[in-house]
Amino acid sequence: MDCIFCKIAKGDMPAEKMVYEDDKVKAFYDIHPKAPVHILVIPKEHVASIAHLEENHADLIQKIIYTAKQIAKDQGLAGYRLVFNVGRNGGQVIDHLHLHLLGGWKGEQDRKVHV
Ligand code: AMP
Ligand code: ZN
Repeated sequence: MDCIFCKIAKGDMPAEKMVYEDDKVKAFYDIHPKAPVHILVIPKEHVASIAHLEENHADLIQKIIYTAKQIAKDQGLAGYRLVFNVGRNGGQVIDHLHLHLLGGWKGEQDRKVHV
């Protein structure tokens, strides 16, 4: 399948800068950051979006969110946003599930971002 996040997950395509990897997930910096810290957490398994979740993906979703929380802690983010864009009307461009971890802002104005 011609999915760029599958290629990154398999290591067939280099991602920006890798942040974390284990057998289930991978995390790397977004190439077009919308915040001082903008990291994507993806499952290695191809799931197109939140709209494509099955009941047996519960552990995977927990893992993705837990990974984002750990990275936020490691990066010393005082606060952050976790965003799943779902479908074209929801702003999703890449059809491989990914969680945006956004943070590192200094003031309220900076936080008004669209990802
Ligand atoms: P979305 O709009 O939710 O589908 O988000 C896709 C995100 O992937 C965007 O923020 C892009 O900047 C980012 N992106 C696209 N290609 C790459 C890549 N090769 N490495 C890192 N981030 C990417
Ligand atoms: Zn994929």
